[in-house]
Amino acid sequence: MHIAIIGAGVSGLLSALELVEHGCTVSIFDQSQAGQAASWAGGGILSPMYPWRYPEAVNILAQYGKAEYQRYNAQLSSRTGIDFEIHNTGMLIFDQDDFSVGLAYKDRYQEPMQHCELVEGTELHQINNKISPQLQRAIYFPELSNIRNPRLLKSLITYLTQHPRVTFHTEKQIVKFNLKGNRVQSICSQDGTKFHAEHFIIATGAWSAHWSTQLNLNIPVEPVQGQILLFKTPAQWLPTMCMNEVMYLIPRPDGHVLCGSSVQHCGFNTQIDQTTQDNILKHCLAMVPELSQFPIVKRWAGLRPGSPDGVPYIGQMPEQDNLWANFGHYRNGLCMGPASAQLLRQLMLKQSPIVDATAYSTARLQKSSQIA
Ligand SMILES: Cc1cc2nc3c(=O)[nH]c(=O)nc-3n(C[C@H](O)[C@H](O)[C@H](O)COP(=O)(O)OP(=O)(O)OC[C@H]3O[C@@H](n4cnc5c(N)ncnc54)[C@H](O)[C@@H]3O)c2cc1C
Repeated sequence: MHIAIIGAGVSGLLSALELVEHGCTVSIFDQSQAGQAASWAGGGILSPMYPWRYPEAVNILAQYGKAEYQRYNAQLSSRTGIDFEIHNTGMLIFDQDDFSVGLAYKDRYQEPMQHCELVEGTELHQINNKISPQLQRAIYFPELSNIRNPRLLKSLITYLTQHPRVTFHTEKQIVKFNLKGNRVQSICSQDGTKFHAEHFIIATGAWSAHWSTQLNLNIPVEPVQGQILLFKTPAQWLPTMCMNEVMYLIPRPDGHVLCGSSVQHCGFNTQIDQTTQDNILKHCLAMVPELSQFPIVKRWAGLRPGSPDGVPYIGQMPEQDNLWANFGHYRNGLCMGPASAQLLRQLMLKQSPIVDATAYSTARLQKSSQIA
C-alpha cells in the first residue's frame, strides 16, 4: 500500500514509521524542512502538564509515550547512532491548588507515571537542592521523564531517509486534494505537481484548518504560540523538572535547561517578544533563582496545533474513504505521538486498536453548512 503523508512533524514521521514497519510504502511531504515546526520547538515532557486538567482521551494516549519512546530509541539508535535521551528526572509541581486533586488523581488511576506524593521541607530540598528556599511544599512525580525532541526528530528522519520504502519531499507545500467521488485521487503542490498514492494522511499540525474549505468541514485547529528560552548550566545540574503556574523548567542531561512556555493566540507568528520572555524568566527564576548565574543560549517560539480540549483527530476523514487524519494534538503531541501513530496505523490496516478510537473520531468535525 502506498501512502502519502502531508506534514513531517512528530505526527507525520511516527505515522510513517509505523506504516513502513508494517510493509507500506510512504511518501512524506513538508512545506518546509522535515521536523522543524512545533515538534522541534516543544519541551518534550512525556505527560500532560497537569493531567487532571485534560480530558481522559488525552491521558489515555499520553500514558504510552515513555515506554514506546524507549522501544523506538532502542530500535532506531542501532541504525542512526542517535540517542534521543529519555531523561528520567521526575517532576515537582508547586501549585498548591493542585495538590489535593493531583493526589486524588493518582489514587483513581494507579498509573506508574501518575504516581505522586506530597513532599515538604528538607525532603523536598533533598529531591531538588536547586529550588528556592521560599518553596516548601510540592507534589512529586518520580516517574515523569522528558525526551530530547530535536534528537527524536533527527533520529526519525535519519532512519526513514535510509529506508528503501520511504521518499521525502521537502519544501513542497501541498495545496489541494484532487477529489473524485469519495476518494482522493492525488494531491497537488503549490508548483502544480500532482502526486498519486492509494491513501493520504493529513498531519499538518497548526496548519490543518487549511483543509476546511476544500473538504467543506469546520476543522477547528488554530496555531497557539509558545515561547521558550534555554539556559546552559553544568551537566546534571538541575535534578528534576519543576512546574508552577503553568510555567516549567526541563533539564537535559548535558545541562541545558528549557524554560517555558507562554500561550498566545497570535496567528502564524513565531517572533519572540521581550514582555513574554521576561514573564517566563520571572516565573522560572522564582522556582530556581540560581539559574540567573548561567547564560541564556537560545530563545524561540513554536506553533501548537490548538484543538478544542486538546483531543486530536485520528482516523478516517468523514467523506473520503482514503483520506486520514492525525492532527490537533495541541500541547501534548510529543507524549501522545507514539499511541496516535499506532492507532492510525491500526485503523488504516484494519488491525485491532490499542485504545477505543471513538474519542478521536473525525465525526466530531462539523460540515461547514452545519455551522450557524
Ligand atoms: C513551546 C511548546 C512546548 C511544547 N511542549 C510539549 C511537551 O512538553 N510535551 C508534549 O507532548 N508536547 C509539547 N508541545 C506540543 C507538541 O510540540 C505538538 O503537539 C506536536 O509537536 C505537534 O506535532 P505535529 O506533527 O502535529 O505538528 P508540527 O510539528 O507542527 O508538524 C506539522 C508539519 O506539517 C507541515 N505542513 C503544514 N501544512 C502543510 C502543507 N500544506 N503541505 C506540506 N506540509 C505542511 C509543517 O511544515 C510542519 O512541518 C509543545 C509545543 C510548543 C510549541
